[in-house]
Amino acid sequence: MNRYLNRLLNVMLDRKLKRAALLFCLTVLVAACAHAAYTNRNQLLLISEGQEMQLGLQASNDVLKKEKESHDQMQVERVKRIGRRIAVAANKPEYKWEFHLIEKNEVNAFCLPGGKVFVYTGILNLATSNDELAAVMGHEIAHALERHGGERMSTALMLQFGGQAASVALGAGTSPAVGQVFSQAYGVGAQVGVLLPHSRTQESEADEVGMIIAAKAGYEPSGALTLWRKMDAYQKSKGQSTPAFLSTHPASQQRIADIQAKMGAIRAQYFQPHYLN
Ligand SMILES: [Zn+2]
Repeated sequence: MNRYLNRLLNVMLDRKLKRAALLFCLTVLVAACAHAAYTNRNQLLLISEGQEMQLGLQASNDVLKKEKESHDQMQVERVKRIGRRIAVAANKPEYKWEFHLIEKNEVNAFCLPGGKVFVYTGILNLATSNDELAAVMGHEIAHALERHGGERMSTALMLQFGGQAASVALGAGTSPAVGQVFSQAYGVGAQVGVLLPHSRTQESEADEVGMIIAAKAGYEPSGALTLWRKMDAYQKSKGQSTPAFLSTHPASQQRIADIQAKMGAIRAQYFQPHYLN
């Protein structure tokens, strides 16, 4: 009797495992259908772009409630002009682009899904030339175009909910769990400080795609090189206390070398010089 019970248990367990494995494979298969724009890299994406954009809009409203916009009209116009040009080059008509300059002495910039771009006045001390500011904005916009936040949210959901991650993700927008991983992925809202880091793959993808769209918009790709050299010097000057932006965007020698290696080909293929930038 015991032997039969054991066999029955084994069969049941086996079925359960197979079902779990099947569910996992299906999730991965569906997710694997997503490919990153420009680079065609396979992505694990459990939430739709529409859901991401809805969350991006909510977060953008929260940021605008919390932070103060700059009154320096010259710099505000500069950020908007560079942003609009990059947005045209990015060719993403479903985005409702906005460019905000936040009055805060913090090295920070980000782009929320849906095209809400925030630049902090503290970063303008490093991004002094228009080419350098275009490199920052191009990089952040590239993170959104490549849906890196959605990818980080999906990974976090998989780690937290395993096989149920897909069904949790379907409730995006209403589910508190999704709201929380969104805040972590973007470092906004109540979760500031527990930001999920960008992967090295995402960082180098954002560097490459950022340089491409900035070059198409008329900005010299070498702006990325001088910018990240300054970021490196700034990071070293800070010693142990790495600013939040640099903890997710490390200014490593490897990054600088990669940018240098890609710059020539990107300039030759995409750079459209403007007389006035
Ligand atoms: Zn980045």
